[in-house]
Amino acid sequence: MRWAKSKHLVVLALPEQNAVVIYHRFHGNAVIASKDTVKYLELFNSPQTEEFALEHGGSEQTQKLFSSSCFLVPEGTDERLQLKELNEARASRIANGSLVANLRFFSANCNFACSYCSVTHIDRAGYENLIAPTIRFPWKTAKQAVDAFLDLTKRHHHKVVTIRFFGGEPLLDWPTYRRVVEYVSAQTDRPEVDFYLNTNGALITSEIAAFLKTHNIKTIVSLDGVGEVNDRLRVTHNGRGTYAVVQKGIEELRVAGVDIHLNMTLTQQNTAEIHKMIDLCKKLGAKDVGIDDLCFVGNEVVELGTTTKRQADAIIDAWSYGRKIGIPVLGAWVGFRSFSDTALPLAYCAGNGEEVCVDHSGKVFPCYGIPCSIGELHNFDSCFVHPVYQTMALRMVGNIPHCEGCELEGPCGGGCAADAFAATETVTSISRDKCEMRKTITRELIQQWAIAQGGTL
Ligand code: SF4
Ligand code: SF4
Repeated sequence: MRWAKSKHLVVLALPEQNAVVIYHRFHGNAVIASKDTVKYLELFNSPQTEEFALEHGGSEQTQKLFSSSCFLVPEGTDERLQLKELNEARASRIANGSLVANLRFFSANCNFACSYCSVTHIDRAGYENLIAPTIRFPWKTAKQAVDAFLDLTKRHHHKVVTIRFFGGEPLLDWPTYRRVVEYVSAQTDRPEVDFYLNTNGALITSEIAAFLKTHNIKTIVSLDGVGEVNDRLRVTHNGRGTYAVVQKGIEELRVAGVDIHLNMTLTQQNTAEIHKMIDLCKKLGAKDVGIDDLCFVGNEVVELGTTTKRQADAIIDAWSYGRKIGIPVLGAWVGFRSFSDTALPLAYCAGNGEEVCVDHSGKVFPCYGIPCSIGELHNFDSCFVHPVYQTMALRMVGNIPHCEGCELEGPCGGGCAADAFAATETVTSISRDKCEMRKTITRELIQQWAIAQGGTL
């Protein structure tokens, strides 16, 4: 067999190391390569046999790495066509719901009134009425959702699935969600279920913390900074700061032995205060902190956001600082997420066909950030033929015209569809601001990652 160099390699210079980073536009798989390695790859500008490469300074190990990373592909391979075929195969699996492996409960019922809240802003944008702030999530609806979801995932032989309790503030509906966990746990004929809770932390009691620990529920607490920095935007309905009460909730988690994951939303108010937040994570023994910019908010709160450049600089700095003191800084901007072995095709997130979201009234959405219901629980199976679900499920690498040829086409996957929808009212497009930010952050972080790795291939 003869091998050829992939047409989709991206090469970034590392001047300080006299080396380059090479990665694949679709797959990632970044390596730090010496100039000799680059020369070796260039042997395959025209198709060559493995024997030829070995005679010209190659090794079996390098050959294996490059073929498994798709840096070298069999002669005549059209990788974009392959992507298209994989997406076509995926298309044939959409209508029966077989992609779905994640269920999210959501509402806009909240004990806080954060100025930038994405869920409430979707409603204010005047779309379908998604939220009913005083209504609780009824057990009957939750049970119906769980039954439909487990039945679907069992039919399609999923081994591991997720159920996420999301807001507003899900602990306002704790009696229902606690029952969901107990109901699911009591079943034996079901896939393994990983539970997640995204909470503002204020309502965490010692009993709740003990339950989260017992049931191994991954808990992510939102906090926007230390002390009054958090209180600039994360306030109660009376306008009071929330830091003290959240701190108490986090302490309950710590005492119960629940792993602490924090999440911070970047705004003008806290961009300069990230180091203190990462220091706090260190002090609390947090596993990590997610740092993200404002997402899919209406125009009325855009002024709370900061410039793309400032956000990018802040995130790059936070990532480096977290690395220095041993706190992983995560976020939706991490273009490295597929810089490892990944089976194509790729999407930005589970919202692209692999997750469904359910609200208190039994309406089903493809993503909590896209104000378009695709059906109702009593007719769950018909949700998957809804055009919006089908479009979301095909928002895959290779299917987003704007992204074709982008240096981050695979690792980024076109970004969040809800951001795209907020910017353009369609999920087939992208948010240009977020796109720019991801490119800026990723270019810089690849360099920093490579320097930290040291050594070359
Ligand atoms: S959204 Fe932007 S960075 Fe992401 S793949 Fe598309 S063009 Fe590239
Ligand atoms: S599309 Fe955006 S908001 Fe929806 S699940 Fe994905 S990342 Fe989240």
